[in-house]
Amino acid sequence: MNIFKFGGASLKNSERIKNVADIISSHAKEPLIVVVSAMGKTTDALEKIAALAFARADFQKELEEIKTYHLNVCHELFQGEHFAKEIETSFLKLNDVALVQGEVDYVYDQIVSFGELISSLILTAYLEYKKSNVLWIDSRQYIKTDDTFREGKVDWALTGKNIAALANTTDQLIITQGFIGSTEKNETTTLGREGSDFTAAIYGSCLGAQSVTIWKDVPGVMSADPRRIPTALVFDELPYKEAAEMTYFGASVIHPKTIKPLANRQIPLLVKSFIDPTVAGTKIHECRVDNLPPLIVYKENQCLISCKVTDYTFVDETQMTTILKALSDLNLKINVMQNSAISFSFCIDYRESKVLKLIDVLSKQFEVYYNANLTLITIKNYDAITSSAYRTMKGVILEQSSRSTLQVLVKM
Ligand code: ADP
Ligand code: ASP
Ligand code: MG
Repeated sequence: MNIFKFGGASLKNSERIKNVADIISSHAKEPLIVVVSAMGKTTDALEKIAALAFARADFQKELEEIKTYHLNVCHELFQGEHFAKEIETSFLKLNDVALVQGEVDYVYDQIVSFGELISSLILTAYLEYKKSNVLWIDSRQYIKTDDTFREGKVDWALTGKNIAALANTTDQLIITQGFIGSTEKNETTTLGREGSDFTAAIYGSCLGAQSVTIWKDVPGVMSADPRRIPTALVFDELPYKEAAEMTYFGASVIHPKTIKPLANRQIPLLVKSFIDPTVAGTKIHECRVDNLPPLIVYKENQCLISCKVTDYTFVDETQMTTILKALSDLNLKINVMQNSAISFSFCIDYRESKVLKLIDVLSKQFEVYYNANLTLITIKNYDAITSSAYRTMKGVILEQSSRSTLQVLVKM
């Protein structure tokens, strides 16, 4: 059994969907589960609808745009009206669901989950149209989470039991959705943005798959995002630990939760190019790679918050505990931190509403300052050249280094 995952970029138009179908068909003889994301930038578009719906504003124009995009893709795939009725039905359902009342993250999940539901239906219809024998399954019946909407925490025991039942159906090609799950009460949840890689790892780990392959628009995992550093090198292989750390620092090529469940069961993760499937790509597994080059990771949209004591005391452990608890209560993660006698500074992802809530809480006890629009650059395995280049960059407002890792926070 193998698991494939195709992301939004690999499904963004009819040509790309045909390419995905070709890749799948060339592996049709092996038991295979295919996990798909929403097509192109559909999730971003659905997020806008969710915001409008929550504000009780009109979202018909935005809904029509997404529907037209999907209808056009189907028109090209099926050369006619085949599957148009099914798309219309899905969008009528989405329209009804968008009127749901509830807490903001709950409303978000009910709406945003449609991207994956619709893309998986289209890919299934196309494979059937091409005479493949396909089984479409609803990931929400398999992946069970708690009710932390927008960031559902997986109930591994229940999910493992549900997915194990799939082992009997593995003579058939299975297509399912990434990113979505459901609560005990069968309310739809999502696993966090870019979470489809994680979904593939969940299926892989619960089934003890031979391998999990995530198909990307790059030739494999590289020493930096090639969009920023075109000379970045492709790795043939990487140890789990190295890959996990890269993703932790923000290398967006793999979702950070993907590595752990696979490493625990020693299942290799392959990162391959859907543009040229003949290229070997990167194999992430238990291995040793000596002399890794510097790995450079950019994490944008960061915010630096500094808490200063106001009463001439020092920032002690009790005060740090207060700050960490406030962060943990809001489910915010520190990307880098630094303290001095009278202040404690930390950098987190800038999610406006949460950051404002945090500042509100901390302001009761501290003088709070913050800077947004920052980029955190992490260089793992830095050398003399990268060290000097990044430390002397224009706009560095914080710098920190250990023996292996250098981090600079920059106002670009
Ligand atoms: P998906 O289509 O699965 O959502 P993403 O777009 O999230 O895929 O991830 C692929 C992108 O990740 C690439 O286009 C590349 O720009 C970016 N990327 C960031 N860091 C790296 C890296 N170290 N190696 C390769 N690609 C990277
Ligand atoms: N469609 C979701 C997103 O864009 C999940 C994913 O693509 O992995 O975040
Ligand atoms: Mg993505």
